[in-house]
Amino acid sequence: MSSTTPMMRQYLEIKSMYPDAILFFRLGDFYEMFMEDAVTASRVLDITLTSRNKGAADEIPLCGIPYHSSQPYISRLVENGYKVAVCEQVEDPKTVKGIVKREVVRVVSPGLIVDTDTLQPKENNYLMALACGGDFGWGIAVLDITTGEFRATEMAGPEGVFSEIASINPREVLLPSGENGAALIESLAGPLAGRMINTIPEWVFETDRAAGLLTDFFACSSLDSFGCTDLPGAIGAAGAVLHYLQEAQKGTLDHIRTLSTYHAADFMVLDDSTRRNLELTATLHDNGKKGSLLGALDRTVTAMGGRKLRQWINRPLVDVRRIRDRHQAVHELVEKSLARQDLRSALDGVYDLERLNGKISMASANAKDLIALKGSLERIPALLDELAALESPLVRSLRGDIDLLADVTGIIGKAIVDDPPFVLREGGLIRDGFDGELDELRTISREGKGWIARLEREEKERTGISSLKVRFNKVFGYYIEVTRSHLASVPDDYQRRQTLANAERYITPALKEYEEKVLGAEEKLTAIEYDLFQQVRRQVAGQGGRIQATADALAVLDVLLALADLAHDRSYVRPEIVDSGELIIIEGRHPVVEGMSLSERFVPNDVVMDTRENQILIITGPNMAGKSTFMRQVALITLMAQMGSLVPAKSARIGVVDRIFTRVGASDNLARGQSTFMVEMTETAHILNHATPRSLIVLDEIGRGTSTFDGVSIAWAVAEYLHDHAPVAAKTLFATHYHELTDLALTRERVKNFNIAVKEWNDQIVFLRKIVKGGASHSYGIQVARLAGLPQATIERAREVLRNLESGEFEKEGQPRLARSRMASPVRETPQLSLFAPAKDELRQKLEDLDISVLTPLEALNVLDQLKKMV
Ligand code: ATP
Repeated sequence: MSSTTPMMRQYLEIKSMYPDAILFFRLGDFYEMFMEDAVTASRVLDITLTSRNKGAADEIPLCGIPYHSSQPYISRLVENGYKVAVCEQVEDPKTVKGIVKREVVRVVSPGLIVDTDTLQPKENNYLMALACGGDFGWGIAVLDITTGEFRATEMAGPEGVFSEIASINPREVLLPSGENGAALIESLAGPLAGRMINTIPEWVFETDRAAGLLTDFFACSSLDSFGCTDLPGAIGAAGAVLHYLQEAQKGTLDHIRTLSTYHAADFMVLDDSTRRNLELTATLHDNGKKGSLLGALDRTVTAMGGRKLRQWINRPLVDVRRIRDRHQAVHELVEKSLARQDLRSALDGVYDLERLNGKISMASANAKDLIALKGSLERIPALLDELAALESPLVRSLRGDIDLLADVTGIIGKAIVDDPPFVLREGGLIRDGFDGELDELRTISREGKGWIARLEREEKERTGISSLKVRFNKVFGYYIEVTRSHLASVPDDYQRRQTLANAERYITPALKEYEEKVLGAEEKLTAIEYDLFQQVRRQVAGQGGRIQATADALAVLDVLLALADLAHDRSYVRPEIVDSGELIIIEGRHPVVEGMSLSERFVPNDVVMDTRENQILIITGPNMAGKSTFMRQVALITLMAQMGSLVPAKSARIGVVDRIFTRVGASDNLARGQSTFMVEMTETAHILNHATPRSLIVLDEIGRGTSTFDGVSIAWAVAEYLHDHAPVAAKTLFATHYHELTDLALTRERVKNFNIAVKEWNDQIVFLRKIVKGGASHSYGIQVARLAGLPQATIERAREVLRNLESGEFEKEGQPRLARSRMASPVRETPQLSLFAPAKDELRQKLEDLDISVLTPLEALNVLDQLKKMV
């Protein structure tokens, strides 16, 4: 370092404090990056890489970007998984001798993006911290810096942590360093995949320290009001989030107003695979929203409402009263169509108040943002008027939470012009009449401009040069321009400043004197405007709590209206929510499939489940009959009901479910070293270990990933276990192609058989899509294969093999019947026997070698004894 320049020494010193970030080092109008950072950034950002001291031994790679357009570059780096530390000059270079002081003012990482333009409007962007158990539970804290949402909880074990990670879907996760952290990273490898992981010192998570940090930040004497005093893990995690945040963001964070403690038991538990399988917020095939439950339900008109709906889907309720409150509100909004439409159009056009509020508090909002806030708040009076006529308790309480915020609209309206520019430092923001000094300066500036125009007129007259112009540029300021042909008429008091190809430029003392006055006024003007704007922004920020509460109420209202609108258009019904084990859906439909343009009409189906007689429904039926659709439909209707939505059915009575499990389809996780069958069994084990009598389980073809006999046996044993073990006796929908399983109903009283009806017609099948009592006897796999376009010869041969199989597996002589063929098919001379004919084993050999006619009774007994031992 001794050989480097003072500036490089300063750079290296700052860089050493942010080794894991790309350092944007402010040099005048640029952010420069050096060394490794420069190489990475030039590659990711596709900008030119140059170097200092080119060719010398101490050549330093270098690249730079203009400071005023840095935001897209920062965003691109963060999107590509990097952190960016923004280092500013914190002294005015004009007033400092030598090196100007520089400091990192913010660190941008995926979980702490404040530039909302690069975020999805209808999705939260979460940073999460995990404090690892030990004496206490697993602490979880979550923050969305753009909205100020900050919450924490504690989980009894890692299983709860898995499902929280799936539900929250954080972009970035903080873990303690050291052994604890390493163990966490290992055990959470799957759920954490694809998220930025940061390890921070373990002491940051210590409860006492964290509690101190939190009480200081929120300026309160204890954590009592947050409800987490007895949750040391939650406190530790929340403290870690705050610590990380304060390190990264040096500005104000007033919009983070409170820490709310929540309890996992207040919500239905949905593990990661269930969320994916039920395609709650993204489809399995392309991970997109379209085709998911969210895609079908999302009719929200505001970004806040969009985020709230996603949260409701991700965290359905279990409290009967709260669920009923939501239903009552949605139901009222369905019934009162006019009010619904008026409210929706009043809400449509309300900007993202939560994120605007965050920007205002973090001092990154511009004048346009304030005008957007004002425009949004101006819609509130009409909304409140409409709401006055509604009666459901939830809507009434929302009305109470919505604040007119007339003072805020008043301040903005008085201060800021209607259509201000994006930039803040070039004036044009503040209204005339708002500030006396500003008005005075404006007059001077305006008069100055008039004076210049007058001067031009007068000089034209004095000199007789009609083409004379008074103009301005940044280098020379104001000047008088005379074209070459009129040079002879230039008076003596003109001082020449610049010669152009066909003109000369002059100044006069009077012009310069006036210029100073005007330019001085303009400079002062923009400075005052900026100051006034900041004052207004701070004043608005002071009302952030009220804005936030209003934003939250409007978000809920938007969701209720969206659900009502959908319910109205699709004829959903209000489900009856009960605190029992019943699940009765009459004429239920699949919320997503029924909305697709199918070639056939969607056929509704009933389901009756309970914990007394109809606990396990074994569902058989041909491929393509609609088994999966039916089971998902039952799960989705239950989930929709518990999130507060009305449901696609003629009627529904739904006993609250504590969790939904699914084991659906084949997927493998080769990255984690698990085969398809292994994933299937791991998920099944998870279900058997965690189900309760209040759960709902969807099992689609358990055991199909292995040999038929193993598969049937496992499926059978799983169903029996769910029936016989009271602690896990959950309501279960079990689709299978193993018709053997229908025999379970003969010995297990709460197992019932259903199948999806088809009609056979001319050797073809017609899907009726109707679920009926009893087991199916055929799979019709070959007919479906024909529908799929398998070659005719293959279909014929498959029929033949099937017939062979159905008349017993082996010929008398031990040959597999499968091989027999009337067709000249390329059946091998020596068929592969391994699957069907057991090899002659020792036992068989010994029996065959035995000559009973020569054995004495005693020898016979001995042989028998030996054989038995062999067995
Ligand atoms: P497999 O056993 O091969 O997995 P499956 O019995 O699970 O088949 P699904 O995947 O549920 O069959 O349904 C197949 C197709 O049938 C669906 O994609 C859908 O288009 C249609 N379908 C399912 N249920 C209905 C219904 N109730 N009304 C109309 N169409 C339906």
